[in-house]
Parts: sequence; structure tokens; C-alpha cells
Amino acid sequence: MASILMVAGEGLPFIKTGGLADVIGSLPKALTERGHEVKVVMPLYKKISDKYYNELHFDCEYSVSINYHEVPVRVFSKVVDNVCFFFIQHQGYFERDSLYGYQDDGERFGYFQKAVIEMLNQLNYWPNIIHCHDWHTGMIPCMVKETHDADPRYRAIRFVYTIHNMAYQGNFGPEMLDSCLGLPYYLLDNGNVRFDGGISFMKSGILYADKVTTVSPTYAQEILSPQYGEHLEAVLNMRKYDLWGIVNGIDTDIWNPATDKLLASKYDAESAIKNKKANKKALQESLGLDVDEHKMVIGLISRLTNQKGLDLVNDVIPGIMDEHTQVVVLGTGDSQYENTFRYYENKYKGNFCAYIAYNENVAHNIYAGCDALLVPSRFEPCGLTQLISMRYGAVPIVRETGGLKDTVQPYNAFENTGNGFTFDRYESGLLYDAINRAKTLYFENRVYWDDMVVRDMNKDVSWEQSAKQYKDMYVELTPRY
Ligand code: ADP
Repeated sequence: MASILMVAGEGLPFIKTGGLADVIGSLPKALTERGHEVKVVMPLYKKISDKYYNELHFDCEYSVSINYHEVPVRVFSKVVDNVCFFFIQHQGYFERDSLYGYQDDGERFGYFQKAVIEMLNQLNYWPNIIHCHDWHTGMIPCMVKETHDADPRYRAIRFVYTIHNMAYQGNFGPEMLDSCLGLPYYLLDNGNVRFDGGISFMKSGILYADKVTTVSPTYAQEILSPQYGEHLEAVLNMRKYDLWGIVNGIDTDIWNPATDKLLASKYDAESAIKNKKANKKALQESLGLDVDEHKMVIGLISRLTNQKGLDLVNDVIPGIMDEHTQVVVLGTGDSQYENTFRYYENKYKGNFCAYIAYNENVAHNIYAGCDALLVPSRFEPCGLTQLISMRYGAVPIVRETGGLKDTVQPYNAFENTGNGFTFDRYESGLLYDAINRAKTLYFENRVYWDDMVVRDMNKDVSWEQSAKQYKDMYVELTPRY
């Protein structure tokens, strides 16, 4: 079995801003259960040190060169579910309120990646594979191959680079190549890292890794085209024979309505139809909605960004709101969307809730209490909310893109099959139509609706299948193990 180090900008149970953290919290665990030795490394953010500092084990300290100065690194660790999580500590870089979005992000994550590479030497720990996730880690394969190739311990390592979202690429000025990353300037000329006059962490990850993966087969195809490739489609086409699309799973222990302590009423597939009503009532009460079990509650749990199809939602709200329908939105993000949803809350008092926050407890209660969940994304590499909603018996209404297309089979009224309602082109009229199809089935053919709820809850959304595919890929990279 291969030994794998996963490198990421965030991960549960320690810190989360989006789906990446869910994956880092659950994929290593799933691989460990299947016999691999998996460790994870991420920065020690303020929120992690505030909560866990006393539980962390101090491993080592050393320094790396950033802007021609030696900058100290301290490494801590903590084991969770047999997975060892390492944390790179630097007060100035990481002990801030947010994870990303700072002027010096390039330097912060340049430092992080350098510190990770040197950590192997300091701990005398030599994984077979370094599995890098997203732009925060994209320079690692390049830095190891370009600057550590003479050392056989580094040379033996194979690299996997997983793209969770092409929209965030880590593009920075060219000057940091030498000063921060310690790389030679000729890399700007040979094209391996240059992008738009500067350098791109993601491009470098794509070109230097031994395998590139993304989080669904459909997104793996889509990003080869200009529409979804975010200007890196030509680079991705160069690697298309090493590009795998492996759909994400969810941690079915954390997301389990039969054991979820946050719910008003726990349930499994057998008790769902009855017990979801109690959860609906509790949700309506807690959010200040009219309490009525006969109303159809449609949920939306999302970062409020342009990616997530919110302009379509905005367009269709006036059309779908009626005395039988309620909508619950949980999210934070662009103020334009936050304010639109607040406006609707005011306009449709008692039937529309705009919960503008990041709140995991509320999320659990929405998945359990709503009848349907909207995911009308413009693009969606994998998407987790539709997987969680199926696990909780809330029927997803999704656009057929990326992982949404791969995980939600459209309802077929003739055969009584499928998991949700889908639409293809990015048009409000089509979302409106999909929601109306869902409403029609819900109000006029409840037996078939209930069948779909049970079918969704029985669908395998765990890591079972996908962990096998990652395992196959690791085996291909390290045939000796
Ligand atoms: P992305 O990674 O693009 O944000 P995903 O669908 O892959 O989207 O993952 C989103 C994850 O974040 C899901 O676990 C979802 O439940 C959670 N989430 C999103 N917004 C919120 C919120 N406002 N409060 C709580 N959880 C949220």
C-alpha cells in the first residue's frame, strides 16, 4: 500500500470554507480504512490554534528562505480517525481572521509549500505520493522537480494534483518566482509556469504533476473547453491522457440522518416520510416561517457567488412563490446576492428565509427539513450539497453540469426512476420549469415523490467507489507498492 501525503489549504474537522475541506476531512479517512497510510498537511490558521492549540503535538522547527531571509517554521500535528494532520505554523502568515483573500497570498502559500517540502527532510518522512489540492499547493511538484532532483529521496516521490475549482488559480507577479519560491527565471521562458505576464500556481501543478485529477468525469471533460477551462484549457489538453475525473463522496458518518444529533427527529430511509415532517416543522419554527407541514420547502445552501446560479434563482423567485411554497436560503458571499435574498425575505414574510451566515448546524437542519434543494450552478466541479441532500431525502433540483450531471439522474415519470430534477442550459426559464416539474410531482403525485425520497436516501454517496479509483491511480503511479 502506498503512503500518501495530502497537502491542502483547508480540511475538516479543523477548518472549512468550502467543499475542499469536506474532501480533506473524508478522503484520507476513507483511504486509511482501505489500508493506505495517509497524512495531511495544512497551515495552522488562527481558528485552528485558538481551538486546538493544547491538543497539538510539537514535531519540529526549522527555517525556509523567503525574500532572501530565513523565516522560521514550526510543525505541529494531531491524529484524527487514524489520519495524522500536520500543521505549518507561522504567526504572521496564518494567524489571521480569514484563510485566503490577502494581498500577500502568493507569499503566504509560497512559504507554506516550501515549508512542506522541507518538512519531509526534517521529519525524515518520505511518502510515495504527494497529493496536492488546488492552487495553494500547485507549485510543490515544480519546486521538488526543479530544485530537489539530485536528492533520490525527493526524486522517488510521485505527484498527484487535484483541481477542485478552475476559477481559483493562484496567479501572482513574476518576481516571486526567484525571491519567494527559489525557482530559476528560465521557467518563465519555457512556459511551464508563466501565465498572463506572471506565474500561475495552478498551471504549474497541472504541468508538473504525474497525474492530474478533478472531482467529476463531466468537469474533467468540460475544462478542456474554453467555456469552462478558465484560459487553461490548452494546458489541460496537453495533459488530457493523465487527467482523471473522480467524483467526490461525503463522510456518511457525519452526514447521517439516522444518528445526526442536530436534528429534531432522526430518520432512516424507512422512517423518512414520517420523520422529515417533524424536522420540517422544527425548521419552520426556528427560522420564523409559517408552520405548515403541507407547504413544500425548497432549500439553497451555498456560497453566494456568481458560480452558483444565483441570478437564475433571483429571476425565478417571484414566479415560484405561492401560498404552498417556502424557500430557505443559507449562505454568505457577494453583497448583491445577500441583499436580494433579504429583499425577498421581507417581501414574502413567513414564506422566505434569508439566513445570511455560515452555520453548519443550520445547514444540517435545512437538509433534514426541506423537501427539495436547489443547485442551479453556472459550473460545478463536483458539488457536495446535492450529495448531502440526497442522503437526507431532500430531492435535488440541479443544472446538468460537472458533478451535478454525474450524480443526479433526472426523474423519469414513465419508469419511476431518477434522483432529482435537472435542466441543461443556463437559463432562468429552464430552472423555472424544473422547479415546476418538482412542485407538480410533490403536490399531485406524492407517492412517486416519496419513492424518490427513499431512492435518494438509498443511493451510495459515500467514498466507497471513488476511493477505489484513487487507489487504482496511486497503484498506477507506484507499481512497486
Ligand atoms: P463549494 O466548495 O463550491 O463551496 P460544495 O457544494 O462542493 O461547494 O461544498 C459546499 C459545502 O459547504 C457543503 O458541505 C455545504 O453544506 C457547505 N456550506 C455552504 N454554504 C454554507 C453555509 N452558509 N453554512 C453552512 N454550510 C455551508
